[in-house]
Amino acid sequence: MKTCRSCNIRKDEASFHKSTRAKSGTQTYCKSCTKAISAARPDLCKARGERYRAKNPAESLYRHLAKRARLNAAYCIDRQGFCDWYYKQPMQCEYCGESQDNARALYGHKLHIDRKIGTIGYRDGNMVLACQRCNLIKNGYLTHQQMMEIAGRYFNGPYGNAHEELLEALKRLQSVVRDEYHLLDIRKRPSLCLADAQAGTAIAKAEGRA
Ligand SMILES: [Zn+2]
Ligand SMILES: [Zn+2]
Repeated sequence: MKTCRSCNIRKDEASFHKSTRAKSGTQTYCKSCTKAISAARPDLCKARGERYRAKNPAESLYRHLAKRARLNAAYCIDRQGFCDWYYKQPMQCEYCGESQDNARALYGHKLHIDRKIGTIGYRDGNMVLACQRCNLIKNGYLTHQQMMEIAGRYFNGPYGNAHEELLEALKRLQSVVRDEYHLLDIRKRPSLCLADAQAGTAIAKAEGRA
């Protein structure tokens, strides 16, 4: 039992959010007070979220992967494994070499977590960082190797950034494909890339899963 410093009501521990900083292991305000305070000051709430994400980029990114991990544990690395992997990465796009800051400025998104082989989940050895542009272009259509070649040839070469029209067209096409794709059960989704499917099957066989 613990007394909430906001409403002064004694409540059991489950009524408080966990805290890694507090000695007691839980926060000083109860869950319902925290919720009311956040609702009253969404700006503070948002700023707090931003501070957390800036300080803990891997932890906050992992939340997106964890949604998929809940569907299929074998699909996704665990939180600690992901954070260890993330903090070891050079913060640049695997394909075109754009830095985290540039990727964000140019494409409005931080570096994505891309899977080299789309039919294998988020696991060590299959994850790379990719800018929004390269990730969208590669998507499920190109293999890791093909994307390396394309980025090497066009994005760092004489064509520079003369790909914006292509990128827009790809975004439109991919949003249509993605809408249909996401309606499918995650385990029943066909691979959009034949080469990936073959590589995935080969790995599954080697691991004795197929
Ligand atoms: Zn309270
Ligand atoms: Zn890139």
